[in-house]
Amino acid sequence: MTETPLKLYNSLSRSIETFEPIDPSDVRVYTCGPTVYNYQHIGNMRAFLFADTLGRVLRWKGYPTRHIINITDVGHLTSDADAGDDKMEKAAAAQSKSIWDIAAHYTEAFKADVTRLNITTVTEWTVATDHIPQMIDFAKAIEKDCYQIEGGLYFDTSKVPNYGALARATTEDGENRIDPVSGKRNAADFAIWRKSPPGEQRQMEWDSPWGKGAPGWHLECSVMSLAHLGHPFDIHTGGIDHREIHHPNEIAQNQAYCGCADTGARIWMHNNFLLDRSGKMSKSAGEFLRLQTLVDAGFHPLAYRLMCLQAHYRSELEFSWDNLVAANVRLKRLVMAVANLKIRDDGSMKGEATDYRKQLEDAVSDDLNTARALPALEEMLADKKLSPAVRLAGLVDFDGVLGLDLAAIDRTDLRVRPANATLSEAEIDAQLAARKEARSAKDFARSDAIRDALSAAGIEVMDGDPLGWDWRVEI
Ligand code: AMP
Ligand code: ZN
Repeated sequence: MTETPLKLYNSLSRSIETFEPIDPSDVRVYTCGPTVYNYQHIGNMRAFLFADTLGRVLRWKGYPTRHIINITDVGHLTSDADAGDDKMEKAAAAQSKSIWDIAAHYTEAFKADVTRLNITTVTEWTVATDHIPQMIDFAKAIEKDCYQIEGGLYFDTSKVPNYGALARATTEDGENRIDPVSGKRNAADFAIWRKSPPGEQRQMEWDSPWGKGAPGWHLECSVMSLAHLGHPFDIHTGGIDHREIHHPNEIAQNQAYCGCADTGARIWMHNNFLLDRSGKMSKSAGEFLRLQTLVDAGFHPLAYRLMCLQAHYRSELEFSWDNLVAANVRLKRLVMAVANLKIRDDGSMKGEATDYRKQLEDAVSDDLNTARALPALEEMLADKKLSPAVRLAGLVDFDGVLGLDLAAIDRTDLRVRPANATLSEAEIDAQLAARKEARSAKDFARSDAIRDALSAAGIEVMDGDPLGWDWRVEI
């Protein structure tokens, strides 16, 4: 166990708290996962990068950690305020596919992004539709706090004292609930079980004591966290939008289930939004940025990870291509520094990286301040008093927290070819060799012509680049 206590911001108390694990040998974290009706945008991925950083910090500080992310493949409606269609049903109808095909496709795409972003702390993925019997059992156990209307079984939020404490909003006016479900007792009441409308067959429906239907979205997370982690567990995470509706509803269910004031988790943590120029990045606008969009534009996925690490998870972060370019340059510098150390490494261990390690630990122990942790890595790599072997060992250690995969990636990995590239790497290298020849023969007209032809193909030749880059993709 390391020395600096871990401090985390708990949305429940709206304050920084010292993390006290329930069981230090088995720390348990639950992260609300994607609804797999579409691709995840890079804002969504910010939520999972934050959760991964949390998991990495916990492990790095010596706590064996179980980390679950769920896959929501049923129940999430087009409105968080519990009205509208099921997102999955809607996507399936729009694409004339089965819900199972839709779920499989977007789950796979999501997991591919998880891998590309080096999100490694997840020990288990749980799938909502694998838990229907447990959801029905849970619903039965809290039925005393529910009532039935035409739409199904609804939770009566007036039955739990302090409902919505997490959101700190009054239930009637704080959440813009314009809720057309008729028969509800309180505007904030939400579906536990959504009955299939008479005469209509949903693609996903199950028998239940309240009729054929499907579970409500909030029920899923209470049930999966209970089934896999037990209540109370240590930390529950999600995007800050979940602080307003989804998590207060999970808490209400958990309290009804245990008949006590426990919220289900000790600490509730929320990442702030990734913004674009029009505001919060979302899918409703139609077009949205995916990780693949960044790769197609010639960026390594880990440049996006670094961009997120440069901001505090509780701050809004504005996405811009300039920001991403800057993060990409910083990543390149790190990769070059590591490459140079590898060349010079003779195995001798001289000096100690302890002070930098302390700097890094203090930063991440201060509510996961990764922005302050990055300079600790950069300064350590640049410290000539430490032998290359010491610095490379420090790199592996520090990267356990940062997840930039710096020991493995090299400069060729960073030369991501944009989707519309016309030249292969081999062709670029051949052109550069021809240009070098032309230059040594003092045939500058030819060398310039080659450079211009490369530029026309989106490749910038980088003579005398301080990082030793021969070429880069023009942005
Ligand atoms: P969803 O698939 O809509 O349930 O979202 C998955 C995760 O992304 C949730 O934790 C959301 O709170 C989070 N999220 C959604 N939009 C953003 C955004 N623009 N920036 C950061 N996180 C977001
Ligand atoms: Zn959830």
